[in-house]
Amino acid sequence: MVVHTQKDSLVQALSSKYKNDSIGFVPTMGALHQGHISLINKALSENEIVVVSIFVNPTQFNNASDLQKYPRTPQKDISLLETLNGEIILYLPEISDVYEDTVAAQNFNFGGLEFEMEGKHRQGHFDGVGTVVSKLFKIVKPTNAYFGEKDFQQLQIVKKLVEIENLPVNVVGCPILREENGLAMSSRNKRLSNQQFKDAATIYQVLKEVQAVFSDKSIAEINALVTERFLQNANLKLEYFEIANEDTLKTATTKKEGINYRAFIAVFAGEIRLIDNISLN
Ligand code: AMP
Repeated sequence: MVVHTQKDSLVQALSSKYKNDSIGFVPTMGALHQGHISLINKALSENEIVVVSIFVNPTQFNNASDLQKYPRTPQKDISLLETLNGEIILYLPEISDVYEDTVAAQNFNFGGLEFEMEGKHRQGHFDGVGTVVSKLFKIVKPTNAYFGEKDFQQLQIVKKLVEIENLPVNVVGCPILREENGLAMSSRNKRLSNQQFKDAATIYQVLKEVQAVFSDKSIAEINALVTERFLQNANLKLEYFEIANEDTLKTATTKKEGINYRAFIAVFAGEIRLIDNISLN
């Protein structure tokens, strides 16, 4: 596996050696786990070459301590990527290579998608995501780019970004990989204590319960049920639970025919913030 720390050498390699190839791209913030690997393996099966980026993007963090404590394990990540079958290029830049002199987010209009859920609770988050994804897409020029449904709102926003910036990239959504106890895999899980890891299994149990009762109960009843479940667990703090229209991400208060609904949740285990979601149709 070739590792590029500078965009110029990456662009050079892609535009010479791989100029006629289909390029798969998997942007990540590192501390790689099997969720990331599932995206990379899908990309490897659908493209001649796969670019993986590992970059903890400062502009998408609204909390300085979360940015500082975000797990960073580049040597382990490289070793893990080297065990995979297929041609991978790793882009592992410093902040200055991506942002040059100005570490700032651009302002985007994602048609309202950016004001729901994560957008409400992490001010400016999606401007940061849009900024870095746009920069990375312009460097890598991928044919196909792979994003996890774990961050479902982000996936929808990246699809919108490609539309508004008119970029020739096919955005591919990939299913959520989970730990054996059901907790959605996440780099942040590395910061959980053993007890928090066990407690956090409640998140997926509640989402499965919501999925099971969705056709029988009203949305108000389901919202009350979820609030109640988290009041029973003192180690978890519910930040939000919402059932929303999967396409617009607007909060649903009643169910209508022909709309795809999804349940979205954010929970704190101590100071570690965990998100998850599940399809309800
Ligand atoms: P991150 O490194 O957390 O920014 O994630 C990089 C990509 O991997 C994003 O597209 C995530 O949605 C995706 N991803 C993270 N965790 C999972 C998971 N458990 N299952 C599937 N995809 C995931």
